[in-house]
Amino acid sequence: MICEHCGKEIDDNAVVCPYCEKEVTGAAEALPEKEPFFTQKMKRQTILLGVVCVLAVVCCFVFHLK
Ligand SMILES: [Zn+2]
Repeated sequence: MICEHCGKEIDDNAVVCPYCEKEVTGAAEALPEKEPFFTQKMKRQTILLGVVCVLAVVCCFVFHLK
C-alpha cells in the first residue's frame, strides 16, 4: 500500500511506515463510495412515495364510504 504520510510504497501489513516512521491506518485507501449513499437516498424517497400513495388510497376509501 501507499503511506498516507510520505506517499511511499510500503508493506500492506505495515503498521508503522519504515520511511517516515508514522502510524499507517490504511484509511486513505478505504474511501467511502458515493454510490451507496445515493442508493440509500433513493430507497428513502421510494419508501416516502409508497407511504404517500397508501395514504392517498386510504383517503379515497374514507371519502368514498361517506
Ligand atoms: Zn511514510
